[in-house]
Amino acid sequence: MASYAESMTITNSTVCLSQRVQQLKPSSTLAVSARVKELKAQGLDVIGFGAGEPDFDTPTPIKQAAIDALLAGQTGYQPVPGTPQAREVLAEKLQRENGVECKPEHIVITVGGKHAIYLALQALVDPGDEVIIMTPAWVSYEPIAKLCDGKVIEISTTMDQDFKITPKQFEQALTSNTKAILFNSPSNPCGTTYTPDEIRALADVLADHEQAVLISDEIYEKLIYGDIAHLSPGSISKIAQQVITINGMSKAYAMTGWRIGYACAPGCDGAIAKAMARLQGQMTSHITSTGYAAIIEAITNGSETVESMRIQFATRAELMYQQLAAIPDLKCAKPTGAFYCFPDVSSYFGRTSPQGSRIESSLDFASALLEEARVAVVPGEDFGGCSSNHVRLSFACSEENIKKGCQRISEWMHQFK
Ligand code: PLP
Repeated sequence: MASYAESMTITNSTVCLSQRVQQLKPSSTLAVSARVKELKAQGLDVIGFGAGEPDFDTPTPIKQAAIDALLAGQTGYQPVPGTPQAREVLAEKLQRENGVECKPEHIVITVGGKHAIYLALQALVDPGDEVIIMTPAWVSYEPIAKLCDGKVIEISTTMDQDFKITPKQFEQALTSNTKAILFNSPSNPCGTTYTPDEIRALADVLADHEQAVLISDEIYEKLIYGDIAHLSPGSISKIAQQVITINGMSKAYAMTGWRIGYACAPGCDGAIAKAMARLQGQMTSHITSTGYAAIIEAITNGSETVESMRIQFATRAELMYQQLAAIPDLKCAKPTGAFYCFPDVSSYFGRTSPQGSRIESSLDFASALLEEARVAVVPGEDFGGCSSNHVRLSFACSEENIKKGCQRISEWMHQFK
């Protein structure tokens, strides 16, 4: 993992960099993907469970829509928050599928879901305002909150509670200084999903704190396994004005490289959405012009393809979970959403790996696993809270690779001393 992280290490010897950028952490998940690519380029047989992206290609009709738009001359500057047609399609989708009351002018189409979260926090947070993050959490939440000068307040969860916060924990963390809460269900990295009742119970708490805005990251909404229904907090009327719904095309439509996300912010009479668009107008301006046609095609006609990908992910989730559950002393919550297993490997700390590495942390564990057994997983350290006892494995890969990789992990772990 070292080489990508090293390549991202910035020394301040020649230029005078801001404190902000010097303190910014590089992404550990990208570090793992980069290391796997390096090892594969050397001809090594590495099984990659690191990548947080579908292994499917973007469905052809979505690609074709973008090609057609390009050939039809949709190549110039576009309105900053997106074309009226694309915003309308997204607003209709949010009303129809998610029960979120909104208008096209509440939609801001952004360069990925990541930038939608950045814009939302930039629009809301003044220096020192509190931003609540529920850990283990996606690696980018904390760096983004800090870039926006927010004071991060962490609510930690454990595997015993399926990595979900309780209303009591939420109540204790909220103060009159809370400006934003980052909420993510299904969760990266935990692979667990809040039930509608659990979300309603949190909404009851939030409703008493009118100044606090819940940024609901629903990027994995289409990837839920088992009988949990997805509930958008923005559909709960008592908090609807306090919710910004974040979503995007990356995960559901296998479009990670297209960089398309969106936010729906009906609060403050649309002022939050306008503020986000104002910010975007001074940053990226808007997404690539051909992306709007792709959004319209995906949202209007893509549901069957999404469902077929979901069914395949559900099979893989079960397969990986069963394989991991069979390894002695490896504790793993059953994945109910996204595409991750997040086992606790801490019972192997203080022991020695087959080729003699002393394992004291999940970073040691992941490094030794990659170097000795050629399986890439993401060490938990950067996800916060109890994550340093865990590693993240993505099952966004073939069943064959899941079987082969888990077999290697199992054999490797059996040889620990
Ligand atoms: N939110 C979560 C929880 C994620 O895991 C990711 C990507 O890994 C994103 C948001 C951002 O996705 P994108 O910027 O590709 O839309």
